[in-house]
Amino acid sequence: MSDTILVVDDEEEIRNTLRGVLADEGFDVLEASDGRRALELLEADAPPRLAIVDVWMPEIDGIELVERMRSQAPRLPIIVISGHGTIETAVRVIRLGAFDFLEKPFQLDALLNVVGRALGSDAADDDAEDDAPRTATPTVAPPRRMPERTIGKSVVVNGQGLHSGIRTGLILQPLPPGSGIVCGNISSGETVPALVDHIDSTGYATTLVRGGMVAKTVEHLMAALYGAGIDNAMIEIDGPEVPILDGSAAEFSDAIADVGVARLDGPRRMIEVLKPVRIENGAQFGELLPHEGFRVDVEIQFAEETIGRQRVVVDVTPDSFRKELAPARTFGFMRDVERLWAAGYALGASLENTVVVGEDGVMNPGGLRWRDEFVRHKALDAVGDLALAGLPMKAAFRSCRGGHRLNSLVLAALFADPTAYRVVERAPARAPVRQRGGAAYAAAPMAAPDR
Ligand SMILES: [Zn+2]
Repeated sequence: MSDTILVVDDEEEIRNTLRGVLADEGFDVLEASDGRRALELLEADAPPRLAIVDVWMPEIDGIELVERMRSQAPRLPIIVISGHGTIETAVRVIRLGAFDFLEKPFQLDALLNVVGRALGSDAADDDAEDDAPRTATPTVAPPRRMPERTIGKSVVVNGQGLHSGIRTGLILQPLPPGSGIVCGNISSGETVPALVDHIDSTGYATTLVRGGMVAKTVEHLMAALYGAGIDNAMIEIDGPEVPILDGSAAEFSDAIADVGVARLDGPRRMIEVLKPVRIENGAQFGELLPHEGFRVDVEIQFAEETIGRQRVVVDVTPDSFRKELAPARTFGFMRDVERLWAAGYALGASLENTVVVGEDGVMNPGGLRWRDEFVRHKALDAVGDLALAGLPMKAAFRSCRGGHRLNSLVLAALFADPTAYRVVERAPARAPVRQRGGAAYAAAPMAAPDR
């Protein structure tokens, strides 16, 4: 027997489109043009296994409807669609227990992907009380090749912009294979792929620009996605800047771990570095070298005694990234703060989101998370900057006294020399991948967006 999906939308045209697409996939479709009818259909003889609800409808407000559906049918996964784009809507419906959130206009294959995961997900979500045999549709077939990955479902992260100081938030959404990491603006619907080609500036933070779309301070989130092995995801930002949170990637990594990783059909490709590529600028250098796996080896030298000379070497896996790099915070010097403010940067900087070094050492009341937190943050930034290659890398990255600008120059130099790299299909991992909430992947180096 095929699964029944309930579509709730007041626009007939949308109901027709969804019915057509879902019927093509072999689903039975129930339709409701208003909330009252939707609640009636939950009691039907063959109740739906999944509901797709537009939250912007007359009569019963869609959010209220989600709430009532949740209390009437708590086990029913609900996918919410919305066309009026505010992050508050996403936050509210996800808190109410909606499975996922899609912003209109959405791609139909993105919808089908979410539908597949919602129908397959209850096996993973259920607690032990339900031992009844079920015929849940598996989300993906057992992989013959290392498949691409996206996040398990949408997740919302709220905070403040470091440089603008404005309250901001974002929704991370799953995307189908081949999409890569894409930044979008919730209000305008404009997007920019998270690729080195679209870097506009690297002054204190990495900014991506395409047309009217601006995404500032993407590096810590890009690092968290790369670290978790996410190939495809939409970053929908409520404004021009990714929130700074505590100045590290910890909250992004936690949010990704909370929703888990979903494997998609399709092989993963990666960039294999074939020969050294190096950029030098006085005492500063950065280079990519051939290497099995992905390693960052970063060194900094500062006159301040609190920092001095520090070096960290990390073989990046989801586990090592989360433990060794993700919690390392952005740092700055008290003497620079006024200069930055005058230039319009760091308006949101505070001891809540930046390790500040003053004349007498670290000014933050809680002190450092590691003695070498500074260089670990530089290594975190390097992971985020290299993630803009668009594919996971098989390489060692080494830098001394580097920064965002140097990192992006090294990447540009790599792509400028076609004999320095090749794109390879990744061999399957030897160890199984944990699907949900998993910090532990035993596989070797992990991923980044697809190019
Ligand atoms: Zn940083």
